[in-house]
Amino acid sequence: MDTLAWMDVALQKAEESLRAGEVPVGCLFIYNNEIIATGNNTVNETCNATRHAEINCIDQVLKFCKEKRMDHETVFHELDVIVTVEPCIMCMSALLQLQVRSIVYGCANDRFGGCVSVLEVPKFYDPKITIQGNVKGEEAMRLLQIFYKGVNPNAPELKAKKGRNTKGTSTTENK
Ligand SMILES: [Zn+2]
Repeated sequence: MDTLAWMDVALQKAEESLRAGEVPVGCLFIYNNEIIATGNNTVNETCNATRHAEINCIDQVLKFCKEKRMDHETVFHELDVIVTVEPCIMCMSALLQLQVRSIVYGCANDRFGGCVSVLEVPKFYDPKITIQGNVKGEEAMRLLQIFYKGVNPNAPELKAKKGRNTKGTSTTENK
């Protein structure tokens, strides 16, 4: 599978996250051309502000390595990360400490982005890492916009009532 196809899978995870009432971020960790971890945010579910998609994937890799009796350091060093939104400063630091091979992300994260948007975290670590942004970024951004606008993604269809202002039309005011 190529990068765009992987990103489609990550976007599906982001949509699942949206439906679960979490910030819509989807993440995949690819090792040997295979998905070994998939994750979305579980901050609200766990009441833990650090449960970002990337952190959930890191836990899965550790579990995967334990089950397969593989050396997790080696696996992390050959890992490609696909994530729909630019990793935040916390996740970027974690991924760099684990020395993953590459990161591909969708849209920029203007509030917390740790690749370039807020802080260039790779500067403090290994500059050898390959980072590619804006891969299907518009799609990832659309999901974030739905979340932050508070639109219910489970609603079958959004029927906007155009040109009608229902504000303050109680009948008792018509005396
Ligand atoms: Zn994060």
